[in-house]
Amino acid sequence: MVNVTVWNENRHEQKNPVVRDIYPEGIHGAIANFLKEDQVQVKTATLDDPEHGLTEEVLNSTDVLIWWGHLAHNEVDDVIVEKVKQRVLEGMGLIVLHSGHFSKIFKTLMGTTCDLKWREANDKERLWIIDPSHPIVEGIGEFIELEEEEMYGEHFDIPAPDQLIMMSWFSGGEVFRSGCTYQRGKGKIFYFRPGHETYPTYHNEEIQKVIKNAVKWAKPTDRNMPVYGNAKPLENI
Ligand code: ZN
Repeated sequence: MVNVTVWNENRHEQKNPVVRDIYPEGIHGAIANFLKEDQVQVKTATLDDPEHGLTEEVLNSTDVLIWWGHLAHNEVDDVIVEKVKQRVLEGMGLIVLHSGHFSKIFKTLMGTTCDLKWREANDKERLWIIDPSHPIVEGIGEFIELEEEEMYGEHFDIPAPDQLIMMSWFSGGEVFRSGCTYQRGKGKIFYFRPGHETYPTYHNEEIQKVIKNAVKWAKPTDRNMPVYGNAKPLENI
C-alpha cells in the first residue's frame, strides 16, 4: 500500500467563501477523498499544523508527498523544507500542484526562479498529451479540457524537464508546459499545472485520474539503493 501525504497551505479556504464552497473540506480534503478510491493510505497536513504537519515521523512514513501552496510560501519553515528535500533525495515522490511552482521546496529542487506569466480571466485550458505512452496519462484521451482556469504562460523558468508529458493551450493564446517530470537523487518529481483555487478543477475526473496515476509513478522504487564512497574492487586488479 502506498502512503500518501497531501499537504495544503489551507489559507484561501479560510479567507474566501468561494473557495470554501468549492472545497468544503479544503483542497487537501478533496484530493485525499478521491485518492482514497485507489488502494492508497492517505494523510493530510496543513501549514498551521505543528511543524506544518510534516514531522519526521510523517515524512519518514510518506512514500509520495503532494504539495499545494500559494499565499504563504514564505511562512514554510526552511528547516522543514530541508527535511522534505532530503526525503526526496532518499526516494520519496513529490507531486507539486499549480501555484506550488513558487514553493520553497520546488524552487530549491529546480534551482531556477520557476517564474511564469499568469492571468485570472476564465480562460479555457486544453491540456494536450504529448507523451501518450507515459504511465501518468494512462486512461486519458488526446487532451483534457477545462472550461475555466487561471492562465499560466511561457516562459516558465524551469530546467528542461526529464519528461514533458503535457502542453497546455489557453484561449488567450498562450501555451505552457503543464506536466513535467524530474528525478532528483532517488526521488521522482511531477509538476502538474491546473488547480487554481476558485475553479472546481480537482473535482474533474480526468484531473483526478492524472494525480492518481502520478502517485503510482512517483512512489519509491523497491530495490537496494546505491552505496557511495571508497569501494573495494570486485575483481583482482
Ligand atoms: Zn492560481
